[in-house]
Amino acid sequence: MAASAQPYKGPLDPREHFTVTLQKHCTKERPSILTVDPTFGDGLTHRWPQEDQDMTLLKPEHEKHVLWRRTAGDWLAKDLGVWDEHSAPHWILETLPMNYALFEQVTHPKAEKPGAVNPKPAGKLRLDRFIFGHNGRKIRSALSLGKHLSWLLHGSHELCTCDGCKIVSKAGAAAAVAMGLSPITAPTRASPGTGKGS
Ligand SMILES: [Zn+2]
Repeated sequence: MAASAQPYKGPLDPREHFTVTLQKHCTKERPSILTVDPTFGDGLTHRWPQEDQDMTLLKPEHEKHVLWRRTAGDWLAKDLGVWDEHSAPHWILETLPMNYALFEQVTHPKAEKPGAVNPKPAGKLRLDRFIFGHNGRKIRSALSLGKHLSWLLHGSHELCTCDGCKIVSKAGAAAAVAMGLSPITAPTRASPGTGKGS
């Protein structure tokens, strides 16, 4: 798929791009499955970070990968109107959108300056997980993954409220103001002329 700077313009009917597999006895262990069309999405693998000792690509069977797909699946099932308190209360996304990947990043504690008056106890390693591949910044939560997918499935109108898109919109608008441009011409993924998002 060729890279494109154009905002993604999808169809209006989100049902065109996902299918559901309802479990007869839907439980947390056997959630109903939301499958987004594997050819649908705005992801590109060249936006993934380089893997190294502090940046690891998580496999689909990794417990955190499963957890992200569960959280996003629950949220999206409600958003798309297929969630049901009695017959389908638990959901999971079958896969991440095309060319999206979940990475785990290790952040090392900052070294204490030599001779510090009140040396702090040694800091701990921090583990964060992010989704890469989408055309804004990294997506920092499973909830945002659900929001971004919903935005795509509904045709990419208005501003996306996922954390990845929000950061880009703000930065784009600020940069545009600094350059004396109208924020509408900022390189955000919003459609031109939509003004403020919901
Ligand atoms: Zn988004």
